Amino acid sequence: MDAPQRERHHRLVILGSGPAGLTAALYAARANLAPLVLEGSQPGGQLTITTDVENYPGFPRGIMGPELVDLMREQARRFGAISRFETALRVDLRRRPFTIESDAGTYTCDTLIVATGASAKQLGIESESHLLGYGVSACATCDGFFFRGKEVVVVGGGDTAVEEALFLTKFATKVTLVHRRDELRASKIMQDRALAHERIAFRWNSVVHEVLGTREGGVRAVRLVDTRTGEESELDTQGVFIAIGHQPNTEIFKGQLAMNPVGYLEVEEPTSRTSVEGVFAAGDVMDPYYRQAVTAAGTGCRAAIDAERWLEAQEGAHASASAAHAVAETAPPAKAAAAAAAEGAA
Ligand code: NDP
Repeated sequence: MDAPQRERHHRLVILGSGPAGLTAALYAARANLAPLVLEGSQPGGQLTITTDVENYPGFPRGIMGPELVDLMREQARRFGAISRFETALRVDLRRRPFTIESDAGTYTCDTLIVATGASAKQLGIESESHLLGYGVSACATCDGFFFRGKEVVVVGGGDTAVEEALFLTKFATKVTLVHRRDELRASKIMQDRALAHERIAFRWNSVVHEVLGTREGGVRAVRLVDTRTGEESELDTQGVFIAIGHQPNTEIFKGQLAMNPVGYLEVEEPTSRTSVEGVFAAGDVMDPYYRQAVTAAGTGCRAAIDAERWLEAQEGAHASASAAHAVAETAPPAKAAAAAAAEGAA
């Protein structure tokens, strides 16, 4: 193998650079695995689209999402992790070493950690992305606290939307759930709770066409359109929570790794093992339930430990196989000596 090719082989490659990927990188680097991290199309993951993070332990005064990611990356690099701003486009997990094709080259690895995360689905309107982090949010657990004493809107009709609406009643004086139909998709028990809550109002058959406000002054209202009549209206609000579902980033693993019908990777709990030996998963790509930075970091740690143990077991098995081979090769002279001894005795 020539030098450039050898550089392209790594014992461990990690796909993704949110808290799961970077924690896996930290642990693997401290285990001397010099992991390669391909950071993906959104380096830092969903934390980079939040502003203040107040629920990540260790930061009593809070920390900005992008800064937290920078610190995690710096910590992993300090111990020898290599991170590159590349995105994996294709993987071949059918044989080892595994092959990963990125937008900048091709790599091979003995073991792989998938931490490609999930993306919150967006409405796809310009004002939504412009005001994301300035009154528009995709996470009530992260940002709800900033809306104490204010009125907010939650968009969506599934369990996430209803859960977010209920959570937000702890802070907001009024929560209006805006849903595009006249019936919720959420489970019955969650529906009942929301429908009975005195601080939750509903705007049925409505879609948000525009979020009104500025980055300096925050959100002031949403422009709604009635899906049956096409009629427009404005609803005053200081916050907009988009809760129309998440999409795990697993497109490139389809047909190779087992996933549930929505696309979340399946792991053999309580480990991080996926359906392919030597491939581990961590973070939101395998977690549709908690989706917190700190839970993602925890599963990243788990995946690094699993990968390290798996590599050790492989290398141990390889070493014993080589030792057995060496013994077999030295056997003929030993046999010959035994035969000569037998001959001498005869
Ligand atoms: P869902 O896919 O269940 O719901 C998404 C909601 O958003 C639907 O009401 C949908 O409307 C609406 N929606 C989708 N796209 C748009 C759009 N472009 N504009 C406006 N509205 C839109 O996602 P969830 O995240 O709510 O739930 C995902 C899974 O996780 C589910 O299985 C859920 O049960 C589970 N979950 C369970 C929880 C719990 O048990 N505590 C908590 C959170 C999630 P429509 O209904 O018209 O399709």
